[in-house]
Amino acid sequence: MDDIEQANQIISVQDELNSAYRMAEERSAVLSAIIDSSDDAIISKNLDGIVTSWNLSAERIFGYTASEMIGTSILRLIPEDRADEEPHILSRLRNGDRVDHFHTKRRRKDGQLVDVSLTISPVRNREGLIIGVSKIARDITAIKIAEEKSAILSAIITSSDDAIISKDLNSTITSWNASAQRIFGYSAEEMIGESILKLIPLDRHQEEPLILGKLKSGERVEHFETRRMTKWGTLIDVSLTISPIKDNAGNIIGLSKIARDITDKKLEEQRKNDFISIVSHELKTPLTSLRSYIQLALIKARERTDEFSTRLLTRAEVQTGKMSTMIHDFLNLSRLEEGKMTLSLSKFSLADLMKEVVLEAEILASSHQLVMDACPEVELLADRDKLGQVLTNLLSNAVKYSASGSRITIDCLVRDNQVEISFADQGLGIAEEDQRHLFERFYRVRQDQQQSHVSGFGIGLYLVSEILKLHGSEIRLQSRPGEGSVFSFSLALES
Ligand code: ADP
Repeated sequence: MDDIEQANQIISVQDELNSAYRMAEERSAVLSAIIDSSDDAIISKNLDGIVTSWNLSAERIFGYTASEMIGTSILRLIPEDRADEEPHILSRLRNGDRVDHFHTKRRRKDGQLVDVSLTISPVRNREGLIIGVSKIARDITAIKIAEEKSAILSAIITSSDDAIISKDLNSTITSWNASAQRIFGYSAEEMIGESILKLIPLDRHQEEPLILGKLKSGERVEHFETRRMTKWGTLIDVSLTISPIKDNAGNIIGLSKIARDITDKKLEEQRKNDFISIVSHELKTPLTSLRSYIQLALIKARERTDEFSTRLLTRAEVQTGKMSTMIHDFLNLSRLEEGKMTLSLSKFSLADLMKEVVLEAEILASSHQLVMDACPEVELLADRDKLGQVLTNLLSNAVKYSASGSRITIDCLVRDNQVEISFADQGLGIAEEDQRHLFERFYRVRQDQQQSHVSGFGIGLYLVSEILKLHGSEIRLQSRPGEGSVFSFSLALES
């Protein structure tokens, strides 16, 4: 080989070395860019546990900078109660094993513990000898918190007495808890993947799209009382509360449903209702006779100008009148509860009905000033008896809940083919909190807040509101404690 040939050979070997060196440099640059941009802490250390490299995420997760850590022992990160982990890991690595996704805790510079998942591999030299360790630590605090939350939630769902069911937007069941099995009889295996329609009686299938529509428009469905079918074909009363399940972007991806078995409650209500209905019927007959005898005796006493008997019998008539109103209210309540309250419509004069109601009230409430401008001569198409009850209830409440001597103003205002009827008193007034519940069955304002004891059952206003609903109207109330109350409603006029 001549000199030139030898020189060329040397140059080509050098070229090869240079390009290998460049490639190695490039690879190392790529690797270090990956290491710097990784979300995980990437750390290397020698076999004595001395840190030899420390990336940016290691700094973010553990709080120490590279210059604080490199050259110092990794034991700084290990909590005292986990000190034996390090020798154990090292011995596994010396045997050539990798440690994958080892969940543990490490201590940050600020003393806080952080949950990490560690993946540790041996670093070998050209000869294959282990010279150190590379460690990837992922911060799993958020995952741990989510896992704990989900464990708590799943414990609640498992131990709940209510059926908790989730389904997708196609009504396919996606989860089914133990109480769902107890209440409906089907196991989770039998129901997951099935349509929820399996539980809904045929005549109620239209409820499902209605509920879905409400939820899609952002409404919640709460305490919706309905019936569902069990595995054994029996119908049970349930109260449903349904909420949307949303993804991170806020899109509805499913529904969660809590179903409470209210069969016992419904049976109890039915029994109470039957009892009220029977007792009211039984009381009505003797009371009607008693009233007639009193009225007859009253006529005779007046004829004899027997003032003493006239006074006592008038009082007795007033009291039997009150009892008769109460019994009517109870009968109406039980009819309403059974869905049996219907209207019997007729055309009648509002002014005549109003006169009757006020006349009756004047006997009961001689202590109050009843002020009524002549009610306009208009005709209504309504249930005369039931509307009479509405007027009587509102007027007798105005009397009951205001001081004797105070004024009660009754107004009938005709406007836009409607009549607005209002009863304004100067009585106790009603706090806002009570106003929200006033038209619920059996609701009464607490006696200590009323200062005086007034007897009642809390059904008058419930009936008023329900009877008006049946007439396509609604009761309105304006009131402030100590400033009296105005109850009003409007009815369409017969044109
Ligand atoms: P009851 O009078 O038998 O208690 P209601 O249903 O008629 O039942 O009335 C419910 C409650 O509303 C009453 O207990 C009373 O506290 C309150 N209330 C009704 N009307 C008036 C009124 N005009 N002024 C003040 N409070 C009233």
